[in-house]
Amino acid sequence: MGAQTYHLLKPREFPNLLSIVVTAYNEEEGIPFLRKRLSAFVDTLPCPTEIIIVNDGSSDGSLAPLMEWVDADSRVRILNLARNFGHQAAATAGLDQAAGDAVVLMDADLQDPPEVIAAMLEKYREGYDVVYGRRMSRAAETVFKRVSAWAFYRLMRLLIHPDLPADVGDFRLVSRACLDALLAMRETHRFLRGMVAWVGFPQTDVPFARDIRVAGETKYPLSKMLRLAWTAAISFSATPLRISFAVGLLIAGVGMLEAVNAVVRSVLGLPVVAGWSSVIVVTCLIGGSILISIGVLGEYVGRIFEAIKDRPLYIVASNVTRQDPSALPPVHHAAEVSKQLAALGRVHAMRPAVTAESVHAGTVRGGS
Ligand code: UDP
Ligand code: MG
Repeated sequence: MGAQTYHLLKPREFPNLLSIVVTAYNEEEGIPFLRKRLSAFVDTLPCPTEIIIVNDGSSDGSLAPLMEWVDADSRVRILNLARNFGHQAAATAGLDQAAGDAVVLMDADLQDPPEVIAAMLEKYREGYDVVYGRRMSRAAETVFKRVSAWAFYRLMRLLIHPDLPADVGDFRLVSRACLDALLAMRETHRFLRGMVAWVGFPQTDVPFARDIRVAGETKYPLSKMLRLAWTAAISFSATPLRISFAVGLLIAGVGMLEAVNAVVRSVLGLPVVAGWSSVIVVTCLIGGSILISIGVLGEYVGRIFEAIKDRPLYIVASNVTRQDPSALPPVHHAAEVSKQLAALGRVHAMRPAVTAESVHAGTVRGGS
């Protein structure tokens, strides 16, 4: 995987229905703020909207303000999960329920400002299938946070997907086509960000300043964050399994070098410590061969793991055919043809379903 994919961008209208999926876990204090701000924003949108709030087994009083909201606003639905299943599962539950042509996933704590959705919709109308919010305001964060985030994204890109964008959370808009591809992936250990990068499609970003939490505390302490990173690394890549193979080769190589070294030294009559080389060589060869066998085993386990995820083998972004020729204006003779070609431009006269004008370069962004 390497170079960016060129995509056909086909401008389109606002979605017939926009679904906004909000995950909430113990957001009692934040929900009134969310209701006010999100309702006001949705009122300004030119397209019909549904708001799906996934209550991820909250144990505080989140349900009461949610019930009030759902009673007052017919656009709102609440999906109560049976217990706390975690953010990635809650988001999947909401995405499963979404009926819109475009779906936005956001947090309940207003760290993802709803107003950014308007910019996302503009990109959607340009033809992009995935529009993620890119966090711009790292300035206020500590050096440790910035350095660790930098290292985290590099590692994740190495392990998961080279197109995984940096400084991007789960706040994003996804088109129906991309969502259907995403929802076809039913793997147990989910890292949605990586899965969206994996499905492909034209992706772009809109910058935004990530606000501070409107109320309450983060539900993602360091331990949960590390667990998510671990899930991401392990469930996307068999690289860790291959490490033992590489280490085994290295150790066996050291053993062989030492064997050669010992033979050369004794032939040349250089001093050799009696017994040392044989012990080192045997230890390295045994250790190396055990690690190599584990690596081979890991390779098979990795393949079983890939197969068991049962991901789609490929995803078709678009299927382009020539448009119905009867839709072309009637042409009677050669002079008329050349006149029409001149008037329309060759590309238009050919009338492909997607014209050259809608082909944009480098629409899958690898991020910076
Ligand atoms: N969340 C959830 N289930 C969980 C943990 C978090 O649905 O088990 C929700 C939470 O209510 C919030 C979003 O996921 O809307 C992101 O969590 P949080 O704001 O705590 O994470 P942070 O922004 O601090 O990374
Ligand atoms: Mg948050």
